[in-house]
Amino acid sequence: MTSVLQSVYTLEDSKIIDRAFRRLERSYKGRLTPQKEELVRKAFKIAATAHQNDRRKSGEPYIVHPIEVALIASKEMGMGATTIACALLHDTVEDTEITLNDIQSEFGEKIALIIDGLTKISEVVDLTSGSIQAENFRKILLTISEDVRVILVKLADRLHNMRTLESMRREKQLKIASETLFLYAPLAHRFGFYNIKSELEDLCLRFMEPEVFNEISEKLADTKLSRQRYITEFVKPIKKALENAGLEATIKGRPKHIYSIWNKMKNKNVTFEEMYDLFAIRIILDSEPKQEKSDCWRVYSIVTDFYKPNPDRLKDFISNPKANGYESLHTTVMGPKGKWVEVQIRTDRMHAIAEQGLAAHWKYKEGEEDSESTLDRWIQHVRELLQNPESNAIEFINNFKSELFDEEIYLFTPKGDVQMLPKGATALDFAFAIHTQVGSQCMGAKVNHKLVPISHVLSNGDQVEIITSKKQKPSDNWLKIVQTSRAKSKIRSALKEEKKIIAEDGRDMLDRKLKSMKLPSNHDNLHEITNHFGLKTTLDLHYEIALKHIDLSELKNFEVKGKRLFAPQKKSETETQPVVIESVEEKLMRPRKDAELMIMGSASSELEYNFAPCCKPIPGDDVFGFITIGKGIKIHRTNCPNAVQMMSKYGYRVVKVSWTKQQEIAFLSGIQIRGFDGKGLINKITGIISTDMNLNMQSLNVSSEDGVFDGVIMIYVSDTKELKNLIQRIKSMEGIIKVHRI
Ligand code: MN
Repeated sequence: MTSVLQSVYTLEDSKIIDRAFRRLERSYKGRLTPQKEELVRKAFKIAATAHQNDRRKSGEPYIVHPIEVALIASKEMGMGATTIACALLHDTVEDTEITLNDIQSEFGEKIALIIDGLTKISEVVDLTSGSIQAENFRKILLTISEDVRVILVKLADRLHNMRTLESMRREKQLKIASETLFLYAPLAHRFGFYNIKSELEDLCLRFMEPEVFNEISEKLADTKLSRQRYITEFVKPIKKALENAGLEATIKGRPKHIYSIWNKMKNKNVTFEEMYDLFAIRIILDSEPKQEKSDCWRVYSIVTDFYKPNPDRLKDFISNPKANGYESLHTTVMGPKGKWVEVQIRTDRMHAIAEQGLAAHWKYKEGEEDSESTLDRWIQHVRELLQNPESNAIEFINNFKSELFDEEIYLFTPKGDVQMLPKGATALDFAFAIHTQVGSQCMGAKVNHKLVPISHVLSNGDQVEIITSKKQKPSDNWLKIVQTSRAKSKIRSALKEEKKIIAEDGRDMLDRKLKSMKLPSNHDNLHEITNHFGLKTTLDLHYEIALKHIDLSELKNFEVKGKRLFAPQKKSETETQPVVIESVEEKLMRPRKDAELMIMGSASSELEYNFAPCCKPIPGDDVFGFITIGKGIKIHRTNCPNAVQMMSKYGYRVVKVSWTKQQEIAFLSGIQIRGFDGKGLINKITGIISTDMNLNMQSLNVSSEDGVFDGVIMIYVSDTKELKNLIQRIKSMEGIIKVHRI
């Protein structure tokens, strides 16, 4: 191998490359046949030669990246030779001289198809290129229906890019991280790659909110020893009892990943110290396939002999696996020192699926008669959705994304068949899941024998019987009732059919009118009229005419030249035009005095900007600008709850902004305080704010219950330093439990 490398690389580079490739070889040693190993080597040689002049931002020879991606595919996803070879070749067609034809003649149809899919998914859109991210996402998903391996290589590629994000510029880091959080982590989840999903999320947090990330990881390290001690104590009696029962098992205690800890802290509004479920105990059984279920329940019974279970927290994913194939038995029990502890019980096979997802899932599926797994069904479902050419990209992504992460609920038909739907699904969703016609004619439902409207939200375990009527038909309103993309797209196409029928009348009316004007109803004329009324398609035009929303007598204001119609000139409609980045950049180049914000390296007093009400940034915050339509630039904090959505969907509208010299401006900010309702504590706090620090308060709201008070104070501060200082001072007061910025 080295000789091939040395003909095109320097000695130093070929050593680095050789080392990386040998690591890859070790990852599949003994797993692949000699022919398959040869395929991987061939892909490596071609890729290494093609990338010989390229380097990564970090300075390494570029080929190290495809090798690392291949290593992830092989070692962490457990994929075979085709996927490994594709990972090695994934950037060749896009970035080097190699063409798709070359790939096809060297490696054949199958690999060429996957590489083609990978090339179509272009890299993260540049700030200036202006194309829409959502369309990009849609393309990514389209490849799922062609060959799932495309998305797997893309996931591996993204994981390696996230691992090496350090060398990128800050804005690029934020964009890549938010895109990852928006789409790739959910995809990893959906394919069951638990470890990859967790790592992606943690890396996103590390770049998007470094302070939070560092704080939690330090605290995890600090508490590691005491946690381990507790786990040992907890596990001891169980271990013994399992041995006595003749069950072979490994028991591990695993801390949650940082992102999920942070998520919980945010959603449940608890501190790190208040979290009881920082770790879960995992019992992994070595069990015969036929014994699996009963063995798991035996373990459950042993665990609950020692520790009392919380009856509300028993989850049986063995009888009802999750849509990504996950199987396990979860319970939460009262451990020593009165702490709740989550215990996950599973077999080796279930564990492999939980960790390695898809690959393990298909590995174990081989030889099984019933190949229709929940995951296959999901891929089939994605295929169906993508075949609907109607849906608009952003809408599609939103619908689709909500389904990626949602938990499923299980529902039963009157015959006892199971249907799986996302949480929040309604009776109407259920009807469409059964059959399009059942959905279209749905009048209502009987849930557990009680009559409910179509908008009724279903719960896990409900038995649902749909009531239909031939007179019923879908309406616009239905789109608001349903949750699932399947139902949405079916309703939309039904509405479109309906619209077509109505539009026929409109077409006749327009044709008659044009005839009377001695004009043909050809494409040019129809196009001119459609545009004039601000509509998108001729179908819309005919439809609006049929509904008499359009007054055809207006056509007499049109100019007629020969056989063509020309619409009268309209006043300019600049206000409805979307802001394009070029014009903003022009504005940015103008000089600006006394700026408290610097935007894209230069300043402009002409530039209109304001602060987003959703996250209320103040000087010192990490911020970015978002170009709005007609309202200048809105400044958001990078940790704004809406940031991920904005950056990933409208990346081209995001501009870099940073703070410059401070002004005598005060910014409204809020802090939440919790403490013991001691006498005078509130007085002392307001004393610090107004007397010691000389700050202005806008409002103060306090409620107290059982001796504990909760207060929200809105104050004007000049920057984050001042705010931090204030929070520190209040924190150090006696009787204060918690202080944080809202
Ligand atoms: Mn790549």
